[in-house]
Amino acid sequence: MHDEGPRLDTLCIHAGQEPDPVSGAVMTPIVLASTFVQDGPGAHKGYDYSRAGNPTRTALEGCLAALEGGKHGVAFGSGCAATTAVLLSLKAGDHVLVCDDVYGGTFRIFDKVLKQWGLEATFLDMSDPAKVREAVRPNTRLVWLETPSNPMLKIFDIAAIADVAKQAGVPLAVDNTFATPMLQRPLDLGASMVVHSTTKYLNGHSDVVGGAVITSDEGLAEKLHFLQKSVGGVPSPFDCYMVLRGLKTLGVRMKQHVKSAQVLADHLARHPQVERVFYPGLASHKGHEIAAKQMKGFGGMISFELAGGLDAATAFLKNLRIFACAESLGGVESLAEHPAIMTHASVPAEARRAIGIGDGLIRLSVGVEDLDDLKDDLERGFKAARDPRAGG
Ligand SMILES: *Cc1c(COP(=O)(O)O)cnc(C)c1O
Repeated sequence: MHDEGPRLDTLCIHAGQEPDPVSGAVMTPIVLASTFVQDGPGAHKGYDYSRAGNPTRTALEGCLAALEGGKHGVAFGSGCAATTAVLLSLKAGDHVLVCDDVYGGTFRIFDKVLKQWGLEATFLDMSDPAKVREAVRPNTRLVWLETPSNPMLKIFDIAAIADVAKQAGVPLAVDNTFATPMLQRPLDLGASMVVHSTTKYLNGHSDVVGGAVITSDEGLAEKLHFLQKSVGGVPSPFDCYMVLRGLKTLGVRMKQHVKSAQVLADHLARHPQVERVFYPGLASHKGHEIAAKQMKGFGGMISFELAGGLDAATAFLKNLRIFACAESLGGVESLAEHPAIMTHASVPAEARRAIGIGDGLIRLSVGVEDLDDLKDDLERGFKAARDPRAGG
């Protein structure tokens, strides 16, 4: 017997969700009420106003916390709102260490929003944890990590960086959007907080925008709940229900994403029109060994450098029929995009080049369609890229 409670595939379906005590409904009700009746002033059943707390949101927060192995889940209206809440727990004059290759919107929050409020950030390649230690300043109050990173699929050693953060006496936040708790659990590796865009794999069907922070630290949980209700970036009850529904199949979806992405990455690595492939499951990937150590699977995201630069990349993307040319990731449907023009346009050109986001770089979110259809589709793109002027 396994006595640590239900395993992840079971938690996806049941955690945080009890049949409705009133009706016996097996699925969590969508409680749309903005306010809740009180027997007398202050005498309520745990809910008074839906910005502060909502039963559908509570179910989602419980499920997410269980999946990440944390005590508290705090849900937000988007991944960016979740990130902002974490950063609003800091104050003017504080300093954050951030890995250099982060989601474009995360970079923008640091660079264009909170810099004006006096929050300082240093972006650095965290591949060498010793460099992270050297970069710690007396006013450093947080380390922010994204692994696998977006879009270069860099892998950073969560346990080693958690040690550095611990020695510095500051929390480590890990954006776990790309891996999901099915493949990687940062809290188990020493992180203090996990941040998610639930828009991506957790919901998994490209029909919700949402976010969450998960932690076991009581002090951080209190701050995050306070910011959730004070700043008010909360998700709607309907969106919470949608994410709960999507989460039920997270286990099976991730297995297929990982399996298909590995096959396509191997295929791309052998392709004559591909200059480089970035996928942590390839033995040639710089972070392969750390990924193998800290992840249970290498994920469903692949980036690759197509020969021929921007013209070839444009022709490739215009001629795909199954992979939709679109931003975002993590849905059942396959997507392809051009980071330099699309998702990472908010990163200055010079910084993009330094990270390695070139004009021929294409990022794939491998969906769960038939794998041979996906392979054929990529071939359609390659054919068009060989002669960009001939294609549509
Ligand atoms: C999409 C994304 C975010 C931001 O989430 P939104 O839900 O779009 O606000 C943050 N981090 C990563 C890794 C993402 O992919």
